[in-house]
Amino acid sequence: MLLNRNVLTGILLIFLLMGVLYYSNYLTYSFMSVEQEELTADSRHVEVHFQSHELHMVAPDHLKYDQPSIVSGRNDVVTVTPWLAPVVWEGTFNPVLLDSIYKLQNITVAATAFAVGKYVMFLKDFLETAEQHFFVGFRVHMYVFTDQPDSVPQIKMSADRQLTVLPVPSSKRWQEISARRLELIQKLIEEKLRNNSDYIFCLDVDSKVHGRWGAESLGGLIAVIHPGYYRDNRKKFPYERRPESRAYIATGEGDFYYCGGAFGGLLQEVHQLAKICCANFEADAKEGTEAAWQEESHLNRYMWINKPSKVLSPEYLRQNFYSQKPGGSHHQVLWSCQELC
Ligand code: UDP
Ligand code: MN
Repeated sequence: MLLNRNVLTGILLIFLLMGVLYYSNYLTYSFMSVEQEELTADSRHVEVHFQSHELHMVAPDHLKYDQPSIVSGRNDVVTVTPWLAPVVWEGTFNPVLLDSIYKLQNITVAATAFAVGKYVMFLKDFLETAEQHFFVGFRVHMYVFTDQPDSVPQIKMSADRQLTVLPVPSSKRWQEISARRLELIQKLIEEKLRNNSDYIFCLDVDSKVHGRWGAESLGGLIAVIHPGYYRDNRKKFPYERRPESRAYIATGEGDFYYCGGAFGGLLQEVHQLAKICCANFEADAKEGTEAAWQEESHLNRYMWINKPSKVLSPEYLRQNFYSQKPGGSHHQVLWSCQELC
């Protein structure tokens, strides 16, 4: 009798175990089938749309250019960041090859510049030199934000390039002008560029394009290394050092010191940058904090967290300390690459 009861309990336990096993299997299957159904259903309705050509670089058939090498090239500078983004230096790229690749993609490059108050005086040089060197041969759309639309000089532009002047209110505090730039760039992308541009560069108007600035600078998120600090230890970078600011970077942290006067990339990348930096700037302002170098500080913090996919060397920017601008600080000059090296 005792034996019988034990056998019975054993059999019952085995059945129970089998039941549990079956049920858990059933659950897995039913979840899997739900997931699969959802995937299949989705793919019937959603058009797969890749926004960027970035990953697929097609060169024209039989294009002639110099043989590339991976054993000789520039050895005086570092040409790749620790997160493996290229650092663009003169001599590291083939301009003919790059232009040919990006011409096939039929891209439009937008560029913004702000000229408020006295800064309208910089427009002529900025626009003329951009016409000579900035994405020559590509479709380029310049956007000038100004409080004096009538003072924008008439520049002769080639057929594939155009200029749009967008009026903005005057402002006395330069910090305010600088702060509003990101907000206006964000709005410009949302309202005007979304369907008719691929890339955007946001440039200081007190700049001249001195040499080629072309397809080698294209990528997802593009930052330019500030020419004033590229040899310095990061302890010395003028990052925002107060933890209460949203632009804060602690001593011993950070990658490079990037310039606030030139950045760019794909529309969606620059849109996100502008949106986040602007929101952080405003949240700081509400608490009575203004970062050391306003948007440049927020940009540096952003680029530290969101690593740029390509970095332009300080060859792309030069500070010309001899020509003083109205505000008394330096006059930046975008320059040709040969001069630094
Ligand atoms: N800006 C302007 N009017 C001003 C001050 C600044 O239009 O009174 C714009 C202009 O595009 C300028 C940019 O804001 O290039 C950044 O200011 P600034 O060049 O003075 O900053 P820095 O290069 O010295 O950091
Ligand atoms: Mn400037």
